[in-house]
Amino acid sequence: MFNNEVKTTCSYCGVGCGIVVKKDINNKIFVEGDKDHPVNKGMLCSKGMNLHYVVNDISDRILYPEMRWSRSHPRERVSWDAALDRASSVFKSVIKKYGPDSVGFYVSGQSLTEEYYIANKLTKGFLGTNNIDTNSRLCMSSAVVGYKKTFGEDSVPTSYEDIELADCFLITGANPAWCHPILFRRIEKHKEQNPDVQIIVVDPRKTDSANFADLHLQLLPGTDIILYNAIGRRLFERGLIDDDFIKNHTEGFKDYKEQIFSVSVKKASKLCGVPEKDIRKAADIIGLSKGFISMWAMGLNQSVVGVNKNLALLNLSLITGQVGKPGSGPFSLTGQPNAMGGREVGGMANLLAVHKDLQNEEHRREVAQFWGVDRISDKPGYTATEMFEALESGKLKAVWIACTNPLVSLPNTHRIEKALKQAKFVVVQDISHRSDTVAYADLVLPAAGWLEKEGTMTNSERRISYLPKAVNAPGEARPDVEIFCDFAQRMGFRGFNYNSAEEIYDEYCEMTKGTNIDVSYLNYDRLKNEGTFQWPVPEYRHSGTSRLFADKKFYTPSQKAVFNVPDQVLNTSEMPTEDFPLILTTGRVRDQWHTMTRTGKVSRLKTHYPTPVLEINPVDAYLNKVKDGDITEIKSKNGVVRVRAKVTDAIKKGVVFLPMHWGKQLQSDLNRANNLTNTHVDPQSKEPDFKFTTVSVSKYKKP
Ligand code: SF4
Repeated sequence: MFNNEVKTTCSYCGVGCGIVVKKDINNKIFVEGDKDHPVNKGMLCSKGMNLHYVVNDISDRILYPEMRWSRSHPRERVSWDAALDRASSVFKSVIKKYGPDSVGFYVSGQSLTEEYYIANKLTKGFLGTNNIDTNSRLCMSSAVVGYKKTFGEDSVPTSYEDIELADCFLITGANPAWCHPILFRRIEKHKEQNPDVQIIVVDPRKTDSANFADLHLQLLPGTDIILYNAIGRRLFERGLIDDDFIKNHTEGFKDYKEQIFSVSVKKASKLCGVPEKDIRKAADIIGLSKGFISMWAMGLNQSVVGVNKNLALLNLSLITGQVGKPGSGPFSLTGQPNAMGGREVGGMANLLAVHKDLQNEEHRREVAQFWGVDRISDKPGYTATEMFEALESGKLKAVWIACTNPLVSLPNTHRIEKALKQAKFVVVQDISHRSDTVAYADLVLPAAGWLEKEGTMTNSERRISYLPKAVNAPGEARPDVEIFCDFAQRMGFRGFNYNSAEEIYDEYCEMTKGTNIDVSYLNYDRLKNEGTFQWPVPEYRHSGTSRLFADKKFYTPSQKAVFNVPDQVLNTSEMPTEDFPLILTTGRVRDQWHTMTRTGKVSRLKTHYPTPVLEINPVDAYLNKVKDGDITEIKSKNGVVRVRAKVTDAIKKGVVFLPMHWGKQLQSDLNRANNLTNTHVDPQSKEPDFKFTTVSVSKYKKP
C-alpha cells in the first residue's frame, strides 16, 4: 500500500512501459508515464494513460464466488470455502473416474509470472497432466518454435536500446503504430533525428505503420515466405551477405540457398503481388544497412505456416550476420504484457519451466525432482484449440479458465460455445463480468486485478519488472496465486503453502540456476530497489543482459545458428472459391485491448474506433454491390458477422479486414470476428490461422 506514489508496469501490451501511480485527494488513483523507466522514458499510449479508469471503476467487477449446482439453476453467491471445496471435489472425482488427462487449465499471457509458475507446477507436477495452455498460444507460439529451431532455445536476442542503434527496420505482420505504440514512437523519434534510417513495412493493409515507412510491400496474405526468400536471393546475388558469419557461425546454408534460388524474384513478385523493383529495393536497403532489425507479431505467427514464416524471416538475419551486435537482430513483439514470462516458466502444454523440454526425459526428471514429485508425464497436453475440441468431444471433462475470454478470442466461436456447454464443469477465474465466457461457468472465482496484487512480468525484450500491490481488491477478490495454492492444498498436494508471491518467485529463480535464463541472483528486493532487469542475470552483481549471442555462440549443440528451410512456402489452408472469394484477416485497433473487458469500459477509448467495421477495397466493394457505410453480411463456412462497411484502398484487393475485439456482451454476437475464423493451426506451433479465412461479403437486407 502507498501514501504518495508507487512505480509499476503497464498491464496491457508486451512493450512493458513504466507507470507511476498516484492518489488524488478523493483517494482515487491516477497514472503517469515513468520518466526514469528505460522502456518508455515517461511516454504512455492512450491505453496506458487511461488505466486508472479501469481500476477506479469497479461496477463490472466480480466481487464474490458464485456457483451453480446444476446447469438448470442460476449461479448463487457462495463462500470461498464452499467454492474451492466444490472445485477440489469435482476435480478429484473426475480424475479418479477418467484419469488426470480429463482435466485442464487455460491461462493467460496477462497472468503474472508467479501465477503462471504455480498453475504449471500444480498441473504438470501434481495433477499429473500437461493439459495447461495459454492464450499466448494464439499470439506467439510460432515465434517460440522459430527461435528454438534457429538459435537452439526460445531466446529473443535483441533489446529496445538496439532501436536507436539500427538504421534499417523490417516491420512485418505487425502494426506497432497501433499495437505497440510506445515502441513505435521510439522508432519514429529515431527516424526524425536520423532521416537516413530506413523503414520497410510488409502488410496487406496500409496501416499507420505502413504510412510512416519508406517502403511498403503490400503483399497478398500468406505469401510472406516467398517474399523473404526473394529478398534473400537478391541479397545473395548482390553479394550483400556476411560470408564470414555464415561460414563460422551457422549451419544449413546450402539447403537454404537451394530454396531461395528455386523461385526467381520475378515469379516471387507475381505470387506476392509486390512489384519486383520493390523486392529488390527492400533487399538493397537491408543488405546495405549497418544495423538491421526485423520486427514481427501476429501477422506472421497466426498462420498454418506461422513457424515457416518465422524461419524464413530469421534466415534474413543469419544471411546478413545481423545477430548479437548492437542495433541488429530479429525481434518478435509479444502482444501480452507477460507472454514472455509465461514462456520462461513453461506456460504451455508442450513446454517445461526454465526452457526445459517436455520431450527430454532428463529434463522431465530434473523438473520432477525440483518439485518433489515422482514424474512429469511425457504426453504433451492439449493446446488452446485442442483443449476446447477435447471438451466438445467429451475427452476433457473439467476446465479451469483464468484471466482470459476464449468465447471471443478463440477461432470459430460457435464451437467454443458448444464446447463450454458440453463440459461437465467449467471454472472461470477472472476480474470482470464483461467477459462473455463467465456466462458458461459453473463456478466463478473473483480475482484481484492490476495494482491489487504483487508479482513480476517480463516484456518483449526479456525485461523483468516487479509490480507492487497498491490498492485493495474489491469485494472478496483474491490474487490468483492464492486461489491456485488454496485449491492445490484442498486437493491434498504439499508444497503449496507459500506465505507470499515473493516465496514463489524465489523458488522459480532457484530453478533457473545454471540455465540460459538464469535469474538465480534476482529477487524482489533487487527488483524493488534497483529497477528492472533483462534476463539472464547469472551473477551476484550482474545488471542484466541487454543483448544475447554477442559471442556468436548459440544454444544449439554445435553452438551455431541454423538456417531452417521452410517445408511449405505458401498458405493454402483455404483457397478462395466462388462461394467464399475473399480472404478475411483479423486484427487489433489502436485504443482497444483484447476482448475489451477493460478498455471497453473507458468511454474516451471508444472515440477512435467506436464500432467494428469491415475494411474492404473499392474494387471488391463494387463487385459485391457494397457501398461505404452499408451494413454488410460477412459469411464463412463457420458463421456470420454483420457490421458496416468501410470502403478503403488501404486494404489490398481480394482481402477484407475485421477487428477482433468485440464480443456479445459489448454489442451483439454478430459483431464477433471469430464467428468466421477457421480452426486450422500450424502443425508445429499449434497457433491458429486467424489471418486466412475465406469469406463472402454482401449488403445485408433485412428479411
Ligand atoms: Fe501500455 Fe503498451 Fe501502451 Fe506502453 S505501449 S502504455 S505497455 S499499452
